[in-house]
Amino acid sequence: MGSRPPDDRFLQLRKEFQSDPKSVQQRSAEELTTFLLPDIEEAQARLKRRTTAREAFAGRRPIPPPDPALSRFWDPARGLLRPRSIQQVQQLIDFARNRGSKVRVLGSQHSVEHGILGRSSLDFDLLLDGELRKIERLDSRTADGFELVRVGAGCFLGPNPSDPSQRAEDTLTHWLEARGLAVPLLGGITHQTIAGFIQTGSDGGSLTHSFSDAVEELELVDGTGEVRTFRRGTDEFAAAGVSMGLFGVLTRVTLKVGTSYFVEGEEGHQELTGSLLAPGTRGDALIAALQKQEYLRLNWYPQRHVQRVTQWTGRQVARNPNAREPYKAQLRDDFTNVMAALVLSIVNGILVQDPNSDLNQRFIGALMKPFLPLGAPQRFHDAWHLTLPMDNPVRTDDILKVLFTELWFPLDKTDEVLGILRGVLEDQRAAGNLAVELYAGKPSPFWLSPAHEGGSLRVDPYRWAHDAGRPEDHFEHYWRGLLDVEGVRFHWGKYLPELDRKYGQTLFNLDYLRSVYPRMDDWLALRQKLDPQGLFLNEYWEKLFLSAPVPRRQIPVPTSKGRKLLGHWARAVSQTCLTLLDKLYGVAVRE
Ligand SMILES: Cc1cc2nc3c(=O)[nH]c(=O)nc-3n(C[C@H](O)[C@H](O)[C@H](O)COP(=O)(O)OP(=O)(O)OC[C@H]3O[C@@H](n4cnc5c(N)ncnc54)[C@H](O)[C@@H]3O)c2cc1C
Repeated sequence: MGSRPPDDRFLQLRKEFQSDPKSVQQRSAEELTTFLLPDIEEAQARLKRRTTAREAFAGRRPIPPPDPALSRFWDPARGLLRPRSIQQVQQLIDFARNRGSKVRVLGSQHSVEHGILGRSSLDFDLLLDGELRKIERLDSRTADGFELVRVGAGCFLGPNPSDPSQRAEDTLTHWLEARGLAVPLLGGITHQTIAGFIQTGSDGGSLTHSFSDAVEELELVDGTGEVRTFRRGTDEFAAAGVSMGLFGVLTRVTLKVGTSYFVEGEEGHQELTGSLLAPGTRGDALIAALQKQEYLRLNWYPQRHVQRVTQWTGRQVARNPNAREPYKAQLRDDFTNVMAALVLSIVNGILVQDPNSDLNQRFIGALMKPFLPLGAPQRFHDAWHLTLPMDNPVRTDDILKVLFTELWFPLDKTDEVLGILRGVLEDQRAAGNLAVELYAGKPSPFWLSPAHEGGSLRVDPYRWAHDAGRPEDHFEHYWRGLLDVEGVRFHWGKYLPELDRKYGQTLFNLDYLRSVYPRMDDWLALRQKLDPQGLFLNEYWEKLFLSAPVPRRQIPVPTSKGRKLLGHWARAVSQTCLTLLDKLYGVAVRE
């Protein structure tokens, strides 16, 4: 194999792999790494210089598939596979089973990244398109008079600023509104796909309404390639609804939808002392408000010299297009977004330097308070899809990208939770430079929904994605304080506590999940039945849900030593690929 210039090595190896995969696979890791060494060293040096491991993972692009049967699905711009029909999903699953690849589906990628994609460049990352984004009106109604619509699982809930490949009018909310229809609830943004939203148990803030109320039927292709349809009321439906892509590729969702409505409400900033969260106020006041208001969200800014709360409340009213009063988000234009980002960055810098200096804290107060002016609340009265997702105008995909961990508590723990939270937020590093969101979750039929079998108080600390340090270290303040509260569960799309770590008296692991999700074992058993090969289990979920990992059965190297060697090889190729893509197209590694 001699001394070719470094860039040729990977291309040569790929060519060889294309014509005779075995000849490459049979080579030892030593042979391969020695051959690729110049490229690997260069790649490693560049990675070290330019990115953290986390960033490298976020910017990684899989190797284009060597097989012509796969390459017709390949989207070179996104570096993933793009099936357009159920049959194409089946073909890909079949192919993955034979090849020993994992299959992961991504929606809009708003969840924690490790929970979405495969980890190795051999794995298949799918983005649903074509038929799998279409919406059809069905010719039948439910017994309680709702219309039924069938939605491709890859359909966006609303326009997705990071992916303009679906026209606004074809997205779920716009499509429904144009036909005088609506769903009962949406989250704070609508950039997500319907599958991504449902699969993580996402929902808006309400004890009265839930997005899951609208879900009637789920269709998926399981790990054996079989198409399955699960109807509301069955165990399979309850298990598959919230399953993080681990039961199969969700292809279509049937929704029951009601008549379009307006939401009328108010949003205003208050001093903490005059709010539902005022020191000394018992949790009952918050519970009563959550029960009384159809929609309620509180954003608590706990910085020592800020201490303000933004309260957003709303209720459904009849549609009246002649009396629209649009909701005006505080951060609705680019200028305000950039200003906010600037403040976040300054405050983060101050907190890193000395969070406890009173001078620093007063400075933080002076910087942040102008964004939270007191005074009469703004009133709004507009269509459901323009009011419920109140954060849509905010640049949450880039300059104001936010990371979260979200803890869901049984409602009767509200008083205890507020007491602990007040203590946690005394520490100004925990208070950070943003807010803690408090809202509610209506009981859900899905076994792994954090609101399964009971209304919840949701506590959602925000962290600006561009803050210095590890998000986990920031969220740890909350996990340490709150994991001992009985019955606490987590939003699956947001940061989870670190596996096998103790927070307070509580060890976070599968046994812990079993203790808070009564149907955990049934869920695991059904998962295993639908995905016997562990096709959908990426490393993140495998570690969490399985004590004994599922072997990759189809890989032609059955021993653990063989798997290790193959792992070395895959990593070497993947790293070299990163370098080459970066060199050729400047796409592989983000600065
Ligand atoms: C700014 C912002 C605001 C948010 N607001 C809220 C909120 O108000 N309420 C709330 O509850 N959450 C909220 N979230 C969380 C968000 O709703 C979840 O992370 C949701 O899962 C994102 O959907 P997605 O389309 O981006 O899916 P992704 O993040 O891409 O995927 C989520 C999971 O679904 C799986 N998946 C996706 N498509 C399929 C498919 N077709 N078949 C099988 N599995 C699939 C993925 O593999 C992954 O496990 C917010 C997140 C952000 C960034």
